[in-house]
Amino acid sequence: MHEGGCSCGNVRYRMKRGPIFVHCCHCLDCQKQTGGAFAINALIEADEVEALAGEPVAISMPTDSGRPHDIYRCAKCGVAVWSDYGRRGYLRFLRVSTLDEPHAISPDVHIFTRTKVPWVQLPDNVPVCEVYYNMNELWPAESLARRKAASEKAKTVR
Ligand SMILES: [Zn+2]
Ligand SMILES: [Zn+2]
Repeated sequence: MHEGGCSCGNVRYRMKRGPIFVHCCHCLDCQKQTGGAFAINALIEADEVEALAGEPVAISMPTDSGRPHDIYRCAKCGVAVWSDYGRRGYLRFLRVSTLDEPHAISPDVHIFTRTKVPWVQLPDNVPVCEVYYNMNELWPAESLARRKAASEKAKTVR
């Protein structure tokens, strides 16, 4: 059970279960948008994130692919708490750095390492991808099942 929030305390959330999969993204967009060397995103079903306080506002980001990318930020302090890539709604890319224990969750894969900051050393016990990867090859069966269930559920709600 992990809780987190923005810097000013306006937005607070709780993860009701562990993440489906965790990305450490070294793309230049993540570097620019976080002001850091990479972004760590925990993929989780939107309905497994319980809102405890505040309502993050969506800000749409320009992307190379043209697919929508909304970053959800605290309306007061502007800290990003999660992203919705592709405007799927049912899947959140939660910013691991906003957890109260930000080091409690570590990446399952490093992606877009072709643009990683040169002095960052990658661990050798975690898959590393120059660009992206094939979900079916890397995700455990349980993770694939969770994503599928969330996607199916979203279809029936609509
Ligand atoms: Zn805030
Ligand atoms: Zn990225």
